[in-house]
Amino acid sequence: MDNLKEIGIFGGTFNPPHMGHYSLAMEAQKEFHLDKVFFVPAYIPPHKEPRNVMDAEHRLEMVKLLINGNPDFILSDFEIKRKSVSYTIDTIKHFRTEFPETKIHFLIGSDAFYHVDTWKDSPEVLKLTDFIIFPRAGNTKEMITKKLGNFANVVFWAHTNLIHISSTDIRFRLRSGEDCAEELGAKVAGYIKEQKLYR
Ligand code: ATP
Repeated sequence: MDNLKEIGIFGGTFNPPHMGHYSLAMEAQKEFHLDKVFFVPAYIPPHKEPRNVMDAEHRLEMVKLLINGNPDFILSDFEIKRKSVSYTIDTIKHFRTEFPETKIHFLIGSDAFYHVDTWKDSPEVLKLTDFIIFPRAGNTKEMITKKLGNFANVVFWAHTNLIHISSTDIRFRLRSGEDCAEELGAKVAGYIKEQKLYR
């Protein structure tokens, strides 16, 4: 994978991954001319389980199914393989080392970016990557600019419409017996059904 000029890093819990994630990565790729987008599921320690997080192996498999067939989307097991909580700074440094000549963009929803100032080594994170932000209901551009004005030079707002899909909502609906195939895509929905996940 040489000669990559620009890549996107898309971190998340992906519990489960959904078509919202997929469409946003597509939109970002198109608007910002990304050669590849790396999906990086987070490792969540089993004893923590803050939100009923599915096993890492299942989440990896589901992301694989979500992006299957798109040669520009790549699954990275970097965070999960480390088997400890990874901070964004560690992940960015890893990709910086792997791709020293490549420009790195971090893809993120506005709800998650709103808390960037609390991240470990956030000033350094902002030096190593910029951010492509997807608007998400509840955290508007105005709120973010007001809170994080000094981060403005590393932020690009993706021109995407609001996508009203969330993993939380999907988990809730799966538990009540819906298949959520439209939000999950047929392959991920099929996997969840077959493995009897999120019941
Ligand atoms: P949950 O509902 O469990 O919080 P999620 O749907 O936000 O999950 P994550 O895996 O936490 O999914 O998301 C990974 C990244 O994608 C985060 O930066 C999140 O803000 C962003 N994201 C997820 N869904 C959307 C969406 N519908 N619109 C914009 N950004 C999104």
